Amino acid sequence: MEHSNIVGVAADKCCGLTEWGAANTAVTLSGQTVCAQILAPLQSLTQRAAQQGFELCVASGFRSFERQLVIWNAKVEGLRPVLDDQNRVVNMASLNELQRIVAIMRFSALPGASRHHWGSDIDIYDRAALTKGASVQLLPSESAVGGPFYNFHQWLDVLLQRGDCEGFYRPYNLDRGGVAPEPWHFSYAPMAANYQSSLTLQVLFEVIDSADIGFKATILDNLPYLFQRFVALPPPPLMRIE
Ligand SMILES: [Zn+2]
Repeated sequence: MEHSNIVGVAADKCCGLTEWGAANTAVTLSGQTVCAQILAPLQSLTQRAAQQGFELCVASGFRSFERQLVIWNAKVEGLRPVLDDQNRVVNMASLNELQRIVAIMRFSALPGASRHHWGSDIDIYDRAALTKGASVQLLPSESAVGGPFYNFHQWLDVLLQRGDCEGFYRPYNLDRGGVAPEPWHFSYAPMAANYQSSLTLQVLFEVIDSADIGFKATILDNLPYLFQRFVALPPPPLMRIE
């Protein structure tokens, strides 16, 4: 097989909507693109939220490989700040290349490894709880006690515990030492499970190898370690889907 064909197959497997074209995309009420398959369960969840007084909005849906690559390279080149767990700017000059990659991957996925490539994953918040003029930031403090979205997430916790969240779950519910916990990140399990099992170390290697990406050699040299720490996740839980 030609090298370019291998890369094409790899990109198909992990880049979701990028390869599907517009026929399979849909736009949510908040203007974010998602895969058409998740629109009905998302509308059900939105309606159930509304009955509780929450205005469920999607802050971020589908994100292309190219967009993630721009974000990644901006962080590599110091054009965008890299933050730590306390929301402070990391002094990248004091770190070697692998340490810089690890610092970036705490909060930004490697292009090709973002679950937002799939169209099955969304970042959600309760617009009704935003004070006038404020905007959502997707920080842990927003969903913690005292934060504007605390009640919204308490309600979601109950649905998730019952396996009654329209097929959605939180892939980043825990701090596994890789990606920081993201309570706002919801994934539609029936779709995401397929992508997750297709995104192997080999596929990601091919995608990175063919990209114009900062720190490429160090990423490829350390990809088994980075994959295990930041990309590999348990399969979606079994849940009730009506
Ligand atoms: Zn997300």
